[in-house]
Amino acid sequence: MQAKVTKANYGTPEEKKYCSCEWLSFVLICCGVRKTIPLANRLNTTHCSRGRTLGNVKISQKAIDKPSAVKPKRIPPCLLSVVNSTRLSPFMQRITLTGEALKDFPEGCHGAHIKLFFPQSHQQQPILPTIGPTGVVWPAKENKPVTRTYSVRNYDSQLQQLTVDFVLHDESSPASGWALNAKKGDKIGLAGPGGPNPLLAPADWHIISGDMTALPAISAILEMLPEQAQGDVFIEVNNPSEQQELTTAAKGIKIHWLYSESQLAGTTSLQLEAIQKISQPAHVESISAWVAGENTAVINIRNYLKEKYGLHKKNLYAVPYWRYGFNEEGYHAERHKVMDEVY
Ligand SMILES: Cc1cc2nc3c(=O)[nH]c(=O)nc-3n(C[C@H](O)[C@H](O)[C@H](O)COP(=O)(O)OP(=O)(O)OC[C@H]3O[C@@H](n4cnc5c(N)ncnc54)[C@H](O)[C@@H]3O)c2cc1C
Repeated sequence: MQAKVTKANYGTPEEKKYCSCEWLSFVLICCGVRKTIPLANRLNTTHCSRGRTLGNVKISQKAIDKPSAVKPKRIPPCLLSVVNSTRLSPFMQRITLTGEALKDFPEGCHGAHIKLFFPQSHQQQPILPTIGPTGVVWPAKENKPVTRTYSVRNYDSQLQQLTVDFVLHDESSPASGWALNAKKGDKIGLAGPGGPNPLLAPADWHIISGDMTALPAISAILEMLPEQAQGDVFIEVNNPSEQQELTTAAKGIKIHWLYSESQLAGTTSLQLEAIQKISQPAHVESISAWVAGENTAVINIRNYLKEKYGLHKKNLYAVPYWRYGFNEEGYHAERHKVMDEVY
């Protein structure tokens, strides 16, 4: 049975002006015009590589603790089609995409950031930006696609299929609404991948925390962790029906599911409170953390980890994925201010 998605479950949209600077940087990188992401935490490579398998999930050989020596290829904007759409849990939809351009998509970059382009309400499929001699050429405003950032949940190079997991927070917002109604053959645009390399800095002990938007990346990180990795992982979901089976070779990883229950997503401090209750295991000399999700939660956890464990950018990925009460157009610029802060 599919749960009905209402705004009451997940907050309200607020239309604001769209800023496309992150996307502009991204396209320039995709096309080799720019070498780094200036606004994105100076995290200018991904961990993508040739993969191996864990169960039936392909994982990076370079894994978490070995930064990639080879820069992955990023693909410029391309059109993909929906192959499959499956409800994983009441508020999580898994969409599998395919397209000719995916033959150039790098392997093993699970958890990496991708840009998705959605059609406007009057369009059947998005009109993608192109790369001209002087940079990105966007379609006219009335045809410009809606841009959102998501994570690679899985990429199967043999099948040329890319899997993305969407939180169904609102049936009327561009990305969540699209995912809710997506059917075989529907078209969406993609560019990427991008993001940090490695996804999680090497350390003796890891603290990983996020809400449902971070669950796809966290799942990918766990799949890539080596056997000896240790850490505590906090994942906030509505209730136990949103839990997923997570796979990891790491024996020293403890998963803590946190339930927001009747509280709206993005309004709790459950993750911070849970993180405050753990303590550093004995004989741990180095710590790294990975935190993503709602803006306030991420900033509060970041501040705590900085204060308590002396973590900073090099060993602390802290990226707000969304902000309660703001749509992506309204929040985008602020996210980059947060990411650019020195910590
Ligand atoms: C690097 C990165 C990776 C990401 N990876 C994923 C991913 O793999 N899967 C995923 O689902 N999301 C992911 N996100 C988050 C996603 O981009 C945002 O949730 C985005 O706002 C969704 O777009 P929308 O069109 O559905 O909603 P918008 O139009 O942007 O927002 C509409 C309203 O919904 C609210 N809202 C947005 N997201 C949520 C939410 N999750 N829960 C409750 N309210 C919300 C907003 O505050 C606003 O009020 C990622 C974001 C980043 C930056």
